[in-house]
Amino acid sequence: MKQRIKAALFAAVFLIGAFGFVCGEGLGAAAAAGTALPQQLGAGTILHDVRPGAGVTRTTWLSEWFEALAGTPADTRVFILDSGKPGAVVFVAGGTHANEIAGILTAVTLVENAVPASGKLIVIPDLNNSASTWTESNQVPAWIAIQTASGTRFFKYGARLTNIAHQGSPDPESYRHPDGGDVFEGWESRNLNRAYPGAAHGTLTQKLAYAVMELLRREKADVAFDLHEAGPESRLANMIVANPKNLDMAAFAVLNLELDGFRMKLEPSSDTFHGLSHREWGDRTQAASFLIETPNPAQSNNAANPAEDPAYPLKARVMTHLASIEAILDAWNMMNDSGRTITFAAWPSRDSLNKNGLGSILK
Ligand SMILES: [Zn+2]
Repeated sequence: MKQRIKAALFAAVFLIGAFGFVCGEGLGAAAAAGTALPQQLGAGTILHDVRPGAGVTRTTWLSEWFEALAGTPADTRVFILDSGKPGAVVFVAGGTHANEIAGILTAVTLVENAVPASGKLIVIPDLNNSASTWTESNQVPAWIAIQTASGTRFFKYGARLTNIAHQGSPDPESYRHPDGGDVFEGWESRNLNRAYPGAAHGTLTQKLAYAVMELLRREKADVAFDLHEAGPESRLANMIVANPKNLDMAAFAVLNLELDGFRMKLEPSSDTFHGLSHREWGDRTQAASFLIETPNPAQSNNAANPAEDPAYPLKARVMTHLASIEAILDAWNMMNDSGRTITFAAWPSRDSLNKNGLGSILK
């Protein structure tokens, strides 16, 4: 077995070289949103339409791991799927960027369908809940409607950044991560994926990042996923970014994904680019850390529909996220040294997703 893994890794090095790497993500302007299906709580918090499935043993809020988040618009629901049997703890987050809808919906399908047989799954579908309270352009829908057997369900299509009204201060002129590195535009201070490891007494975005770090540390997460999307022409589209310490698992997963019909690029976290989930989660906690990107046409063209573009069907993007998570967890189960594994008695059906659409695997 070890021999096979080594051969696979060797081949993966060639794959990585052959694909080449690139990075960058887009942004838009302001405007707000829509009908009222998900419930609006106090202080602008949104309670999204997520319907816990048979695997969910507890529903809580992220403020359980960092009290200062309670009552703020950045608090967000956390779904725990605990098999009750020993095993690996796996964390999945959608909605770091609330306009990257395939990541959010992938997390929702896990909450509604996954049933762990060993280990524990912790899912946050809308990680930056403040970002889901606004949209960056009136050319994208504020809600994504999906037909299910029980009727139409609505999912919030939000923005990339924390709502400026919630951050509590105007954007600085420029933003440099506390650990140094590149200087960004000031609005990047509201980008959760530039804020890790966060700060207990920082901005709302830094507090949110700090809460995630606390969850990963205190729950002793073994594996952590951050689900994203990028414009289809972005070098990031269809890519797995892995912390260097767990690059081998990602390489093995990329090979198996290729056999399964999914062509994913692979890249290690940059050494100099601070504040990103895969970098800081992996460096500062025990978790093997991965970021997965699929192509969202609305991120390069505001007029494109993020859910209904026939060239980039939402169900295919969700399928890519699900397949990538599965492949990485298979690699984890086979390659990790801790002996802790996670297995599932039920998982969102890719077959049904493919044949009958996203609505068929939503409650
Ligand atoms: Zn993103």
